Amino acid sequence: MVAALSAQSPAPRALAGFSDSGAAAQLAREKTFDASLQRGNLQQWLKRLSAKPHHLGSPAGKEVAEFVAARFQSWGYQVEIETFYPLFPTPKLRKLEMTSPDKFVAKLEEPVLEEDSTSGVRQDQLPVYNAYSVDGNVTGQLVYVNYGLPGDYDALAERGIDVKGKIVIARYGNSWRGIKPKVAAEHGAIGCLIYSDPHEDGYFVGDAYPKGGFRSASGAQRGSVLDMPLYPGDPLTPGIGATKDAPRLTKEKAESITKIPVLPISYEDAMPLLKALGGPVAPRGFRGALPLTYHLGPGPATVHLQLEFDWKLTPAYDVIARLPGGELGDEWVIRGNHHDGWVFGASDPLSGLVPMMEEARAVGELAKAGWKPKRSIIYTVWDGEEPMLLGSTEWAETHAAELRKHAVAYVNSDDNGRGFVELAGSHTLEHFINEAAGDVNDPEKNVSAQARRRAIGTVMGRKEKGDLALGALGSGSDFTPFLQHLGIATLSIGFGGEDASGGVYHSIYDSYDHFVKFDDPDFQYAVALAQLGGRATMRLAEADTLPVRFDGFVRAVKGYVDELTKLADKMRADTAESNQLLADHVRELVSDPHDRYVAPAPKDPVPFLSFAPLQNAIAELERSSTAFNEKEKALRGPLPLESRKALDQILMNTERVLLREEGLPRRPWFRHQIYAPGFYTGYGVKTIPGVREAIEERRWSEAEQQIPIAAAVLKAFAGQIDAATKVLGAAK
Ligand SMILES: [Zn+2]
Repeated sequence: MVAALSAQSPAPRALAGFSDSGAAAQLAREKTFDASLQRGNLQQWLKRLSAKPHHLGSPAGKEVAEFVAARFQSWGYQVEIETFYPLFPTPKLRKLEMTSPDKFVAKLEEPVLEEDSTSGVRQDQLPVYNAYSVDGNVTGQLVYVNYGLPGDYDALAERGIDVKGKIVIARYGNSWRGIKPKVAAEHGAIGCLIYSDPHEDGYFVGDAYPKGGFRSASGAQRGSVLDMPLYPGDPLTPGIGATKDAPRLTKEKAESITKIPVLPISYEDAMPLLKALGGPVAPRGFRGALPLTYHLGPGPATVHLQLEFDWKLTPAYDVIARLPGGELGDEWVIRGNHHDGWVFGASDPLSGLVPMMEEARAVGELAKAGWKPKRSIIYTVWDGEEPMLLGSTEWAETHAAELRKHAVAYVNSDDNGRGFVELAGSHTLEHFINEAAGDVNDPEKNVSAQARRRAIGTVMGRKEKGDLALGALGSGSDFTPFLQHLGIATLSIGFGGEDASGGVYHSIYDSYDHFVKFDDPDFQYAVALAQLGGRATMRLAEADTLPVRFDGFVRAVKGYVDELTKLADKMRADTAESNQLLADHVRELVSDPHDRYVAPAPKDPVPFLSFAPLQNAIAELERSSTAFNEKEKALRGPLPLESRKALDQILMNTERVLLREEGLPRRPWFRHQIYAPGFYTGYGVKTIPGVREAIEERRWSEAEQQIPIAAAVLKAFAGQIDAATKVLGAAK
């Protein structure tokens, strides 16, 4: 039986969106592509581009953009550098001192390390700071607020601790950093410090740099604290491109700038402050890995925080490189990665950028040898991602109308390292990117990247068969404007999990020396990313019809609706139970003088919400998706060009109809009704955010309003599937 089978010629490999002959040609093209990838380029470019600090507005930042543009030009692309002028503050004055009970002045500096050659390149280094903190000069008692999230303030309130008029100190982790000053200000704090506890990324995790790759005592994390969940990009031009003469808000009117001054510090600078705190011992979940007893305060530690910034419009240089397509040249496949770093940025962003450059070089070689992709390919290299997606957002806002007409997909990468393939994005592309990850070899284990990811999933208790489920996207990189503002199907790709880049994230030690020691020593995973990005880009550009499929989307959304109903049920039960306990005076029985519990007010009961509109929409989606699959399977041979154009338009539109022009409640810039960064998590995603956040934040009538809104969007999506099925059915 086995012998008989192997005697037959193998069945042709199917690729989503391709005819059999098209798939065979594409797979052959990928062999040529793989053979032309050169590790030497990756190593050379990473070393060169990380030699100097290259943040937005730095001399080296401009040099990097020009270097990248010149390379793309030499590879045959039509290249332009598009310049925008966002507001970008840099520090003029940073002062943090404890005034009582002891005197202490924070160093706020990362020292030169002999083992790290670029750490001594001091010229143009941005010091440790949080971009878009307001200027401020405040003095107050200190309170330790754990991660600084809403639940942490509930725990403080239960102990009778209020942060009004105080300065809070929060540890990094558990949320995007910008949430911490936002929640602190909502609770009346006048200043915010964020420190790196070794529990999160230091000696608790692994040996500290330079012995190991993790954060050292004086390593600190720069980063933006712009209120990105409100709107990313230039704070002065929400919704429009920050061109030279764009109308601008005044800084005072820009709602995304923080309300209170905020400064990041190392644990070396944080320890004297934490040691000087009195008040109750912090609850278990608040304690980090420092050798001290964590107290909450307030005081007696009193600190003085003074910050002044140079607020100026700063040119951001986006590199845009086009390779025009053929018969479907009006359809654009966009691939992007940023080029700015906080300092040397070897891992973030260069470990993602240099593989994309090598990918583009190899694609350019194929084009020089005669390949003309059906669709146009646009490589985009963004400036100002770190301050908050400035280059990508301003470009997407400037070109919104043409992007909504022409863009079929956006594929993003950012930092990359040793380990497992990481796939996230629009679930309509789930099957597509699984096929690509199944064709990329894991360089250390000699199985496909997809198989290795599935193996770790199994170890972690998710038994995944078939396609790996894509993670939903919140924010944290340049995909946000494309997906959540414009409704362009998006993928985020990369490798990681076995590197130590988190230990030097946004510090001066994110360097070439760190990268080749701890992140991807032989550039093997850089090659793997070039292979994955190349497959994604080329297949999207060359497929006969867009490789969009609906099973993954339907499964994902069904899961989200299920989560929402369970969330409401659980909140209802929990609220009833805790209100009962409060009525039974349980708090009085556990209170003691060392742990000052104060009985909180009972919570409003959780009403029964009607999820029926969402559940009916899911049923409709399932029917539509099944009908599409049947017609698709029955299809013989490629469709005529006009049908393919019509079909692509509809498939492209499936993601667009998930938007509402009005956006989400209180944040109109975010229009996508299925994926959004959480208002109180930041990078962390909230799926079906209009409904989910209303429930989580106990706005019951808003939840009732948002359920039919989300359902209508899903029904419109089902309508697009039906339209696509019709085109397939009409084809002979
Ligand atoms: Zn990055």
